[in-house]
Amino acid sequence: MKNRFNNNPPLLYGMVGGGLTSQIGDSHRVALNRDNYYKLVAGAFDIDWERGQQYGKSLGLQSERVYENYIEMARKESSREDKINVVGIMTPNNTHYSIAKQFIEEGINVILEKPITTNSNDAHNLIKLAKKRNVLCSSMYGYSGYPMVRQAKAMVLAGQLGKIRVIQTEFAHGNCATAAEKHSDGAAWRNDPKTSGDSFVLADVGTHALHLATFITGQQVLEVSTDRQSFVSGRVLEDNAHVLLRFEKGASGFLWASGIAVGHRHGLAIRVFGSEGSIEWCQEKPNQLKFSILGQTTRILELDSPELHPPAKRLLRVGAGHPEGYFEAFSNIYSDFAELLLAKLNGEAPDPLCLDIPTLEDGAKGVEFLEACVKSSKKNGKWVKTTFIDQ
Ligand code: NAD
Repeated sequence: MKNRFNNNPPLLYGMVGGGLTSQIGDSHRVALNRDNYYKLVAGAFDIDWERGQQYGKSLGLQSERVYENYIEMARKESSREDKINVVGIMTPNNTHYSIAKQFIEEGINVILEKPITTNSNDAHNLIKLAKKRNVLCSSMYGYSGYPMVRQAKAMVLAGQLGKIRVIQTEFAHGNCATAAEKHSDGAAWRNDPKTSGDSFVLADVGTHALHLATFITGQQVLEVSTDRQSFVSGRVLEDNAHVLLRFEKGASGFLWASGIAVGHRHGLAIRVFGSEGSIEWCQEKPNQLKFSILGQTTRILELDSPELHPPAKRLLRVGAGHPEGYFEAFSNIYSDFAELLLAKLNGEAPDPLCLDIPTLEDGAKGVEFLEACVKSSKKNGKWVKTTFIDQ
């Protein structure tokens, strides 16, 4: 999948949010540029029009395709002959629904940041609308693009761990152990229910941990029991949460989301225990997968290990041992999305190895999970069902 289009990308791309001061914009830009599938040609990059305009100029975009807001962008782009094929949406959570809806209605394919919406009705509406308008959408759970995460999924699917019994997942960092929202716009909107939704760390990082668990094991969460705390004085939303999980095929689980885990750097990890073996993956050592088989010595799989399954093997970009990681994982999602979209546009069957992109349905499951967690914590940890229905 690498560089097959050289300097002639087949897909035109636009960006909403991701401006000069944004946290995640650069990750998307690196991802879309890596394999030459996309060319960034349009954007409404910033809530501040002047800053957005300057930024678009600095990226070398035509001034007529740097827009003051997403509504103007969706309307003007969709009426162009050389309109964008894909829009990436990376703005604060409360804006995702209206922005995604606008582009889907115009028939433009969407890569949408997580959590995809702030309530499940909106998430279901986006799914329905995307089906009606026949557009391809993905929710940006970028960590599922790591080769070793794809390997873990393939191992579970191949039965190498036996029947899955216990799933423990965590995304617990220490970046908000003090009132970070007082000096960071990104932390401020995440801590405000009007812009973040009803949760802080569960939405911001817990949804990643959830997706990792369900992606690798192929099991959805049926019920949650949640305990949420706000440790930093003045915070309305939780900065720490412990969630017990019951999975659909009988596995028992635990999810820890935190912003106050002092000493944890990024803090994303997962452990899966089956009747015959277990795996453990930590995002800070992304190219190693700990694998234990009952009664045998524990092994560490590396990117060039002969045990790797095709979904992982195909993602190795340079010789094993080079520190590939975060940006490549994002690129893998972008490139798989491009392959799926190109197959669709050309009326061809897609490469089955590209089908692992996180979908809008995955995004909706994240939103349902958040709603169940909030409900449970308000009832002092009562078990609450997640109610996602595939539509
Ligand atoms: P940020 O506050 O750092 O940046 C937000 C950007 O959006 C800014 O450039 C801002 O000017 C712009 N913006 C705000 N409203 C806009 C509007 N209506 N139109 C156009 N631009 C607008 O936020 P961030 O950390 O980059 O997060 C953005 C989204 O990405 C959030 O939903 C967050 O949950 C998600 N995120 C995902 C990951 C991941 O790993 N997938 C990582 C970080 C953030």
